[in-house]
Amino acid sequence: MGETGGFWTIHILDPATVNMIAAGEVVERPVSVVKELVENAIDAGAQTIRIEVLSSGGAIKSIGVIDDGTGMSPDDAVLAFTPHATSKIHTIADLDTIQTLGFRGEALASIAAVSRITLSTKQRGSGAVAGTKVVIEGGVIRSHGETGTPEGTMVVVEDLFYNTPARKKFLKNLNTEISHITGILEGLALAHPQISFHYSHNGREHLATERSSRLLDTIARIFGAFIASDLIAVHHALPFVSVSGYISPPSLFRKNQSRMLVSINGRYISSPSVNAAILEGYGTLLSKERFPVTFLSLNINTALVDINVHPAKKLVRLSREPEIRAAVRDSVATALLASDLIPVMRSKESSTFESRKTTRPLQKPYNHTPFQASQIRETTHAGTTATEYQLRQTELSSGVLPVQSMMPDMDVIGQFGGIYILAATPAGDLILIDQHAAHERIMYEQISAQEENVRHSQELLEPVILHRNARDAGVLRDLLPSLEREGFLIEEFGRDSFLVRAIPVILGRLEQTDLINEIMDDLTGEDLQRSVSRREQITRVIACRGAIKAGTVCSGEQCRRLLQQLQRTKNPFSCPHGRPTMVRFSQEQLDAMFLRT
Ligand code: ADP
Ligand code: MG
Repeated sequence: MGETGGFWTIHILDPATVNMIAAGEVVERPVSVVKELVENAIDAGAQTIRIEVLSSGGAIKSIGVIDDGTGMSPDDAVLAFTPHATSKIHTIADLDTIQTLGFRGEALASIAAVSRITLSTKQRGSGAVAGTKVVIEGGVIRSHGETGTPEGTMVVVEDLFYNTPARKKFLKNLNTEISHITGILEGLALAHPQISFHYSHNGREHLATERSSRLLDTIARIFGAFIASDLIAVHHALPFVSVSGYISPPSLFRKNQSRMLVSINGRYISSPSVNAAILEGYGTLLSKERFPVTFLSLNINTALVDINVHPAKKLVRLSREPEIRAAVRDSVATALLASDLIPVMRSKESSTFESRKTTRPLQKPYNHTPFQASQIRETTHAGTTATEYQLRQTELSSGVLPVQSMMPDMDVIGQFGGIYILAATPAGDLILIDQHAAHERIMYEQISAQEENVRHSQELLEPVILHRNARDAGVLRDLLPSLEREGFLIEEFGRDSFLVRAIPVILGRLEQTDLINEIMDDLTGEDLQRSVSRREQITRVIACRGAIKAGTVCSGEQCRRLLQQLQRTKNPFSCPHGRPTMVRFSQEQLDAMFLRT
């Protein structure tokens, strides 16, 4: 710029340019237009809000928002487009007690600066026959007059970003924008269950909620009744903050934080600090890469919340943040502790969340083979000894039964397929436990609890030799120091070979060449979870390989001991990979399956 000297003088930008620059902060993309218009409708006391998006040729053509709120007088309908025109605050002090979503008076002016808006409005209860229609293009009023329109307000935005080429690209990412719009509307609908939202794209409905006083109804409308029925209610009230809403049991999770919805005083915000507090509340119930589904509303004394820190108000600043965080954490932890966390058996259609592993419907006919006495499996001696050893190993280090175990006492009924333990709870539910996943959880927690460098190591009677290809040998060589900290003693033994002299005690039996090979294969293999620490990687592999395997026949006594050990874990309901260790069939479900209703 310096080269063309003529530009290098200071001048004041004209108002249209100022507005376009300001618009960039508020209306980044089409979804921001939707957000601003819908928030205005909410502020206007609407009971029903319709959002209609039209697209053609893969680009958004128009965004319409129709409400049955207060509407505007003919004068206000024009004034609303002036920058910093607002009916919501008078002075900055009003922000301390603000109840509305808007207050900056910038949205309509900003959107008008970069599009063509047609506004039709009629004031509620004005008794006027006609309403007002204003057309404004690039911030310039094109027409203003009377029109026939119902009470409330309709805003239609067309030619968005026609004069800001850089932002036009957003109109082309149609699918992305449409799903962003759905996302923001879900959030607004959940924060305002008392308003009915209807959102359609080219006439196809994407979201529909009915007016309800119950948040759970809105959740059920958006995510399905099955999800809603699994959620755990949260309610916690302190003098300056109350936390209410719903959270998912740990068995229902996402791989990111996208479904951790939090509103503060009716405003959906993204607050890393509140999210962190929620996760603290879950504690070890969720493993590291898992995130819950939450719909939490925080009501905080308005004087403690500064909402004026972000142009699109996505962030807020909280006073007394430590207390607020503690309140959130405690509310989540209390709700979880009070609830029964064993996932309920579900059929396939019922769940919309990716995390659910559901059963396969029976498609193939049964093959009936003639009964043979030999099919009744007796526990083999070798099998029992191995299981015995594995169980004893984890028994030694299992802690005392916590006062409040997450897991109810269960009566073992038997074992099925060498994989599942069947048990009954005092409440009369049937529980299926995956014995491998359960033992894996037990081992995982015990290993994790051991301090690093305190090697619970035992020497092998006979060292095991590992031969590896050059690549795997390289990976293994890198791992040696970490492996040693976990109780392995491994020496290099010529080119690409290693001598294993000792292994962690928890792995037990001494003649386990296969086991050692499996562990080393896992640790050098492609499937290793790279996003976690080395120690975590090694712990998980040891737990997985060292645990009782699926297909091992266990005696009733062994099943009982396994369940007792599981009861002592912090998180008995999922294995370290996040798969469930058990599922529940309630009496009612079984009755329903047998049509005993
Ligand atoms: P803000 O919402 O921050 O006040 P806006 O630019 O979004 O600023 O709106 C300016 C004003 O226009 C609002 O304060 C309100 O008085 C009026 N207004 C906007 N949308 C509506 C609507 N849907 N119904 C009634 N009044 C509205
Ligand atoms: Mg507004």
